[in-house]
Amino acid sequence: MIIRNIKIGEIHIPLVTPFKTALRTVEAVENIVIQIETDTGETGFGEAPPTAVITGDTKGSIVTAIRDFIAPSIKGMDIENLDGIMKKVHSCIVKNTSAKAAVDMAIYDLYAKNLKKPLYKVLGGCRNTIETDLTISVNPIDEMVADSIKAVEQGFSILKIKVGKEGMKDVERIEAIRNAVGKEILLRVDANQGWQAKEAVRIIRCMEDKNLSIDLVEQPVAAHDFHGMQYVTANVGTPILADESVFSVEDAIKIITEHGADLINIKLMKTGGIHEALKICAVADTYHVECMIGCMLESKIAVSAAAHLAAARGVITRADLDGPSLCLTDPYIGGPTYQGPGIRMNEDYGIGIKEMKDVKYFLQS
Ligand code: MG
Repeated sequence: MIIRNIKIGEIHIPLVTPFKTALRTVEAVENIVIQIETDTGETGFGEAPPTAVITGDTKGSIVTAIRDFIAPSIKGMDIENLDGIMKKVHSCIVKNTSAKAAVDMAIYDLYAKNLKKPLYKVLGGCRNTIETDLTISVNPIDEMVADSIKAVEQGFSILKIKVGKEGMKDVERIEAIRNAVGKEILLRVDANQGWQAKEAVRIIRCMEDKNLSIDLVEQPVAAHDFHGMQYVTANVGTPILADESVFSVEDAIKIITEHGADLINIKLMKTGGIHEALKICAVADTYHVECMIGCMLESKIAVSAAAHLAAARGVITRADLDGPSLCLTDPYIGGPTYQGPGIRMNEDYGIGIKEMKDVKYFLQS
């Protein structure tokens, strides 16, 4: 199965409600999608969101990286030479992890199709269902409480609460949500780098004193504030999850060996795809550090690639793959099924996506 061509397009999917974090507000998924075509007629699907505030990647940079760097370096290669293809993808241009992730997942899609297996079975295959949390955007408290109650009514038993904009007031947010949803619901808190280190310790200890039973606190301080991450991790009992602080395998090794966090959030758009994410899984597994699998504002192609990875690896004990649940429409045919918090893996080949509707194609590379 030889790589012939990469088609690059754009997809626009409105969100059910605006997505708000300490970093940004977004109203629609507007992502780059690709199809890698092969000599056998088989096609691999990939997707990359332009999350400039986190990855630095924009629509323009994703298209340019794929069209001018990645596509020319892998065209003509055999899908069976997975390791060789990945070396080219990662060495032809530095950074640009979202563009690399889109190509990487399309290659893995084809690799699994060539082996006539669903992707999660090729990657390790430890389970065929996973449970995701649902993100509650940062808003006035009563709105967040109403959104949380609605999520529980929809069947979600794990909520990820976005905070980080208002310091100690964030404790009131979490307390109001805890009181509204009861003790059985698992609450995760994501500050998206919004606090200072000492402030974070004050806030988290206050939540501990109030017995709010928080599963974890994600990225309390700035991504580059490594000592801040160490300080918070050492001074609270609640597990700390590194998100924006860990893009690469090297970041993961440093965070784990120097105690910058208790847990790691893997996202394909940070690692540059499944190939590098597997290395983080291996490192974390070696040190008995559990991982979460997360996503940006991704629709079903990219989230499904992440779901296949999560289903394959036991070290990934938590899933934050609510992208498709946040989308108002589903322009894809095939793939895993998303029903409330449950994601059931497809048993047909690859990632499972068969067709994309409403895609604007603008480039053949
Ligand atoms: Mg996060």
